[in-house]
Amino acid sequence: MQIENIIQRDVLLKPLTTMKTGGPASYFAEPSSEEEIIELLKFAGDNNLETFVLGNGSNVIADDDGFDGLIIKLGNNMSGIEVKDDPGDSGYGIITAQAGCLLSKFGNRAALEGFEGAEFACGIPGSVGGAVFMNAGAYGRDISDIAVEVRYIEDGQIKDMKVTKDDFGYRTSFFAQGSRIVTRLTARLKKGNKPKIDALVKELRDKRNASQPLTVPSCGSTFKRPEGYFAGKLIQDSGLKGFSLDDSGAEVSPKHAGFVVNNGGTAGSKDIKRLIKHIQDKVYEDSGVRLECEVRFLGGRKD
Ligand SMILES: Cc1cc2nc3c(=O)[nH]c(=O)nc-3n(C[C@H](O)[C@H](O)[C@H](O)COP(=O)(O)OP(=O)(O)OC[C@H]3O[C@@H](n4cnc5c(N)ncnc54)[C@H](O)[C@@H]3O)c2cc1C
Repeated sequence: MQIENIIQRDVLLKPLTTMKTGGPASYFAEPSSEEEIIELLKFAGDNNLETFVLGNGSNVIADDDGFDGLIIKLGNNMSGIEVKDDPGDSGYGIITAQAGCLLSKFGNRAALEGFEGAEFACGIPGSVGGAVFMNAGAYGRDISDIAVEVRYIEDGQIKDMKVTKDDFGYRTSFFAQGSRIVTRLTARLKKGNKPKIDALVKELRDKRNASQPLTVPSCGSTFKRPEGYFAGKLIQDSGLKGFSLDDSGAEVSPKHAGFVVNNGGTAGSKDIKRLIKHIQDKVYEDSGVRLECEVRFLGGRKD
């Protein structure tokens, strides 16, 4: 198969991101296998194209001018999930999911099978690959608590790596360094009490619904939690909850000050970046704390 056959041209990024920004990517492909990813990387190398791996687009602000390179989207075409008992200990189960599988599907499947420990994953709108890359987490747990093995591609090679908590940090991981593409996560989860697991899933979902603006485009928490502080609280203390610079749609959520939202989906990346900078400057002026972005930038200038 010619890899060119799966490459599309000028694909709009806006519908592929939860923030709803982004112009066209000049090259775009959604591979179905690790071999296709390797072929795509070769194509990019041969044609001198920058590459960007996109998961569910729930933590990226894609530039209004688009991306002049190749987007490798890991989504539906690589979204398989498998469950089995741990051969070494029948009190545990092993779940293996491809990178394009939604993290919520992963969490819900674990709950369905009666495995505890992945309840936090049910409400995070990312892919498994993006969650490994970011070490996504919520309510005191994250991917590092459950991951035992990660498959990834580096330098054109498929590698399987046993992982421990040391391979992850706060909203980052070993896989966020260099140019590693996560293709599969294996997690080990304890068998638990199903009604308790279901109750926790519901409790966390209710908490999220009550505190987060889930019906408005966003990337979730815009900033990392600074050591010893909460970003949302600092922003609120600076009087910026519900704040906007203009009528573009870029706004600090009136529901959760830690979320920059794209109200109505009308703001572009430039509007959102301008608001982010304003928040960073004002919070720094008021508290001396420099907020660092948790969101990632796709295309355009990185500041
Ligand atoms: C409403 C809302 C609530 C959220 N709540 C939470 C939360 O509670 N906790 C939390 O941690 N996050 C949260 N997020 C942020 C986001 O869902 C997570 O960061 C998630 O892990 C991103 O996954 P993704 O597949 O969408 O990644 P993308 O946004 O597509 O990409 C994010 C980064 O990961 C890289 N990447 C993606 N896939 C791969 C891969 N397979 N291999 C290598 N690199 C890859 C991309 O290049 C990019 O740099 C929330 C977002 C929204 C919109």
